[in-house]
Amino acid sequence: MTIYLDNAATTQLDNEVFNAMTPHLFENYGNPSAQHSHGRRAKIAVEACRATIALLLNASPEEIIFTSGGTEADNMAIVSAVESGIDHVITTGFEHQAVLQTLTNLQKKHDTRVSFIKHDEKGNLDLQHLEYLLRTNTRNLVSVMHANNEIGNLNDIERIGELCERYKALFHTDTVQTMGHYRFDLQKLKIDFLTASAHKFHGPKGVGFLYRRKGNRLAKLVHGGGQERGQRAGTENIPGIVGLSKALEIAYRNLEADTRYITHLKYTLVDRLSELIPEIQFNGNSAVEDRSLYTVLSVKLPSILPGRSLLQYLDERRISVSGGSACCAGGESHVLKALNIEPGYDTIRFSFSKFNNEREIDYVAAKLADLFEPVLV
Ligand code: PLP
Repeated sequence: MTIYLDNAATTQLDNEVFNAMTPHLFENYGNPSAQHSHGRRAKIAVEACRATIALLLNASPEEIIFTSGGTEADNMAIVSAVESGIDHVITTGFEHQAVLQTLTNLQKKHDTRVSFIKHDEKGNLDLQHLEYLLRTNTRNLVSVMHANNEIGNLNDIERIGELCERYKALFHTDTVQTMGHYRFDLQKLKIDFLTASAHKFHGPKGVGFLYRRKGNRLAKLVHGGGQERGQRAGTENIPGIVGLSKALEIAYRNLEADTRYITHLKYTLVDRLSELIPEIQFNGNSAVEDRSLYTVLSVKLPSILPGRSLLQYLDERRISVSGGSACCAGGESHVLKALNIEPGYDTIRFSFSKFNNEREIDYVAAKLADLFEPVLV
C-alpha cells in the first residue's frame, strides 16, 4: 500500500479533468492566434475557460490572466503594483518564496521598502500593526496569503481587504492553497490581485491564473507575442487552461461534500495522534478548525530516530508527507523558523484530498504510534 498525504505540494489529476483535456491535445490542437478554423476553435476554448472561471469567482473575464502557475502570478501581481507607483510593500514572514524572493529582488532593483506584519507565537497576524503600517506610510501594497502552505493558518482576507480599501492601498492575496477549497466572491472581497494554481485542486501542473481587478495596471513579465490581450506573451497552454477551468468547476460543484469529508479525515488524524502519542503538538493554528485550512495538518514530534527523520521513516513505509513545503524540501523552513520551533523536533505536514480515506489515516497513525510506544513504557 502506498499512501499520499502531500496534497499541499500537489494533487492527483481528476479523471474528469483528464477527459476534458484530451480532445485539446489530439483534435483541437490549433494555435489560438492562427487565423483559420483550427485556431479559432482553440481561441474559443480559451475564452470559454476564462468566462467559466470568472463566473465561478464573480469576476469579469478580462480580469483573469492565464499564467504558468502560482509562482508567475505572484511575481506578476507584485511587479505590477510596484510598476504602478507602489514603493512600500506590507507582507508577512509566512508568505511563499514566490512572494518573498520577488520582494527581495525589488528591494535591490527599485529600492522598494518592505515591512512585515507582527504575529503571535501561533502565527496569528496582528491586524492593528497592519493598520498602523497602512496609516503611517503611503503608496502601499499589502501582500498576504489566504492560507499558509506549511502550517495551514488562515488569514482574514475580508478584513485585510477592508483595511486596504480604507487606507487606499492595493491588496494582493496568494490563494494557491485555498482556490477550489473555499468560495470567493470577488465583487465583495476588496482584492486587487489574486493568484491561483491548478495543480493544487486536481488540475494539471504548470498552469494557473492571476485575477487583476479592472483598472489596476498589469506589468508585462514575458515579452513577445500579443497573447492574453498583450499582457502575457507566449502560446497559450490550451489543454492546461481547459484542465484548470474544469478542475475549478468540479471543485465548486462538490465543495460542501468534499469539505466535510476532508475535514473529517483531518480531525480523525488529530484525534488518533493525540490519543496514541501524548507528546504530539500541532504547529500554528493547524488543529483549530475555524482558523486553519481543512486540508493541512502540521505536527511537531520529538526527533527520536538517530540520524533519520520521521519523514524518512514514513517514506520507508511508503507514506508520502512533507516537512515544510515541497519547494523548500531539504532546506530550513522560513515558516517554522518564524514560529520559533525549538531544535530537537521533527515537523510533519500531512495534507489531505478527496482521494484519501479513513483506512489510510488509521494506518499512518498506527505507524507513527509504533515508533513512539517504546518511549512511553
Ligand atoms: N504560493 C503558495 C502558497 C504555494 O503553496 C505554491 C506552491 O506550492 C505556490 C505559490 C507556487 O505555485 P506553483 O507551483 O503553481 O508555481
